[in-house]
Amino acid sequence: MSLLITGGTGYIGSHTVVELLQLGKDIIIVDNLSNSSTLVLDRVKAITGKTVTFIKADICDEAALDTVFKEHDIEAVVHFAGLKAVGESNDLPLSYYQNNVSGSVTLFQVMAKHGVKNLVFSSSATVYGENNPSPLDETMPTSATNPYGQTKLMVEHVLFDLARSDSEWSIACLRYFNPIGAHESGTIGENPNGVPNNLLPYVAQVAVGRLPQLQVFGDDYDTPDGTGVRDYIHVVDLAIGHVRALESLTKIKGCKAINIGTGNGTSVLEIVNTFKEISGQEINYKVVPRRAGDIGTVYADASLANTLLGWQATRNLNTMITDTWRWQSQNPNGFE
Ligand code: NAD
Ligand code: UDP
Repeated sequence: MSLLITGGTGYIGSHTVVELLQLGKDIIIVDNLSNSSTLVLDRVKAITGKTVTFIKADICDEAALDTVFKEHDIEAVVHFAGLKAVGESNDLPLSYYQNNVSGSVTLFQVMAKHGVKNLVFSSSATVYGENNPSPLDETMPTSATNPYGQTKLMVEHVLFDLARSDSEWSIACLRYFNPIGAHESGTIGENPNGVPNNLLPYVAQVAVGRLPQLQVFGDDYDTPDGTGVRDYIHVVDLAIGHVRALESLTKIKGCKAINIGTGNGTSVLEIVNTFKEISGQEINYKVVPRRAGDIGTVYADASLANTLLGWQATRNLNTMITDTWRWQSQNPNGFE
């Protein structure tokens, strides 16, 4: 039996594939390479000594997915594939709804047709919208403030309805907080296209000299130093969260939304100062006005993941930043 990993050559997917290969799992990756490269597969092989079956295909391509399910004995799917840039989603909403919503529905239809009803889905803390106070827990109301967030929320609704319609489905919607860091080998990590939108890749590229200056979006939030607070989680802890979710699917009847965070908040300036200390590089920054749509403080109540999946994050901020820096300094231009 194999596991199908959509988006498996991407940032979080590749780290999850490493953890699964190290447990001896047979892995099939489907990815259209719109935001990743097959060079990742060589790096994954170098880390694990194992190979995966890679299929270049789009999740919107029903016939291609059908062939994958016909030719392989798949027991469960981890569904990472999707577009993820909030700003871009405002400019290209149709691409986001097509890729993230239509593509997901196509995947679920093919899964249902082949009787594969075990699924772990990449959701996001963005589904908590802007009105809930942190710590955020899974009982809180959900909403979205941009097309990207809408796509995550819509797919969650699809999955809750699907599980209600057919009791054979076991689904974990993992609501990630802010994944950062890289594999400790320094050979795989986050490799954004163009100028990064997220804080950590931006800081890392300033540290390595690719970008001149970080803009800190606002220092007038109601937080200890006025800058935005987020729940950063090491991508390897997140990857292990997927392993635990897969192991727990037999216990999860229906569809469950589960936070994957540390439960701790860290400010932008704490990130900058820790990065400076660990890398030994100057991080040139300037404070600018708040970014539209940003919230001051976001962190998880991570207790459900602990009780339901037996999972909790174990890597601290120093490890997250040490591993980010190792990846960035060894690969200043990403996988190129
Ligand atoms: P990523 O862009 O590195 O990986 C996504 C992968 O999916 C890429 O390899 C891309 O080529 C592939 N892909 C995109 N559209 C596809 C399609 N239509 N068919 C086949 N493959 C396709 O992103 P990531 O950071 O690894 O994120 C993985 C998932 O987690 C995404 O669904 C994302 O929305 C979600 N998520 C990410 C974060 C984050 O901060 N990184 C936070 C919350 C949720
Ligand atoms: N941030 C910043 N400068 C940047 C990118 C992000 O000051 O160039 C801040 C942002 O305002 C937020 C935090 O860093 O407080 C994390 O932002 P990111 O975009 O990484 O994650 P998200 O806001 O989606 O949780």
